[in-house]
Amino acid sequence: MSNNEPTIANRLTCPFCGNDIDFFQIAEDAIITTHFTQNGDGSFTQEVSDSQVLGEVKLFCGECEEELPPEFFDRFNEMVF
Ligand SMILES: [Zn+2]
Repeated sequence: MSNNEPTIANRLTCPFCGNDIDFFQIAEDAIITTHFTQNGDGSFTQEVSDSQVLGEVKLFCGECEEELPPEFFDRFNEMVF
């Protein structure tokens, strides 16, 4: 073994602008279910809401807003705690 690379090799860096701080993701085709209880006067009270993502979830750079390649997103998922 002759691996002398820096140990922090897992940091994501945007290949377009070099940003490695800000990222955001967008979920497509999400179903949002919201439960309500009807009150005595006919008004409604929101109980809980639940979201389920059916479509793709994509990762974007927060600086240049370019969509990052899928392999970036896989790594991103592994590093979100
Ligand atoms: Zn960028």
